[in-house]
Amino acid sequence: MSRPQYHAVDSHVGKTPLIRLNKLSELTGCEILGKAEFMNPGGSVKDRAAYGLITDAEKRGVLKPGSTIIEGTAGNTGIGLTVIGHARGYQTVIIIPETQSPEKLQYLRTLGAEVIPVPAKPYSDPDNYNHIARRMAEERGWFWANQFDNTANRQAHYETTGPEIWEQTAGTVDAFVAAVGTGGTLAGTSLFLKEKNPEVTVVCADPYGAAMWSWFTHGNLDNDDGDSFAEGIGQGRVTRNLEDITVDKAYRVDDQTALSVVYQLLREEGLFLGLSSGINVAGAVKYALDHGPGLTIATILCDSGAKYQSKLFNGEWLLENGLDPGLSVEAAFERNSA
Ligand code: PMP
Repeated sequence: MSRPQYHAVDSHVGKTPLIRLNKLSELTGCEILGKAEFMNPGGSVKDRAAYGLITDAEKRGVLKPGSTIIEGTAGNTGIGLTVIGHARGYQTVIIIPETQSPEKLQYLRTLGAEVIPVPAKPYSDPDNYNHIARRMAEERGWFWANQFDNTANRQAHYETTGPEIWEQTAGTVDAFVAAVGTGGTLAGTSLFLKEKNPEVTVVCADPYGAAMWSWFTHGNLDNDDGDSFAEGIGQGRVTRNLEDITVDKAYRVDDQTALSVVYQLLREEGLFLGLSSGINVAGAVKYALDHGPGLTIATILCDSGAKYQSKLFNGEWLLENGLDPGLSVEAAFERNSA
């Protein structure tokens, strides 16, 4: 027998299960499949981007032993950079909008990141969290990961998420659905899948108040149609990671529909997930209802609901924000299409 090989935690990003969502598959007559990204070492899909950004920077010689990594992030990329960074000997400084869930801030601090919460400002404002991260990197000689415009992010999904879905579905995947934060997941995965089979349909599921639905549907960046509580998604511009990709279809998903999906998965599938996962799965169900039955549709289960206990799983917060955890998925979709 050959000697077993063991690897540190940074070598265990990806290779996540592709989980059949039984009830929604039965409801639609399609195979609705969720990539279990919450099972990554840092607990989200962003571990893949973090791994890609760090490994690429090491190859380019811009990250050296003992370096500090700084990033503007809604939280998950910061968690991924800190987990993988610590495994490789780097410190992290995280600039995060103060609107993000307190659980993510605590999580980052517990991991040992230096966390700097800043007021939430639009990208056009010089004090937007990303610009602050870039400026601090320039001033202090730190490495700015730049997840939005550094295409090592989408490359990680091209090299891992895409091939994994292709293999796990034995090449039978008909559609891939993802929401957009940086766009790394949607772009990298879809570039790979379309290279394997140009017939694979790429679907963007977008929350209200973001511009991606308008961009992929009408080619403009209008986003003046509401708002969403989903964290980590909701993009208003075409990042470098999103450039030159083909998206065949985009859906708007409202928070109530996403929440109904989150609670359905919690109660009937044993899956405890955040709202962006609800938006993704709702997008997959919409596509299945429009184009099924008989299709194999893959999407992303981005992160765990544990990061949002104080909001999505807090009755008072839900009531204050007009969200009903008791509304069924069927009723939510019916309301949505009315
Ligand atoms: N869901 C969550 C919870 C996230 O943190 C992110 C990343 N910001 C996404 C979805 C979107 O991923 P991407 O940046 O690859 O578009």
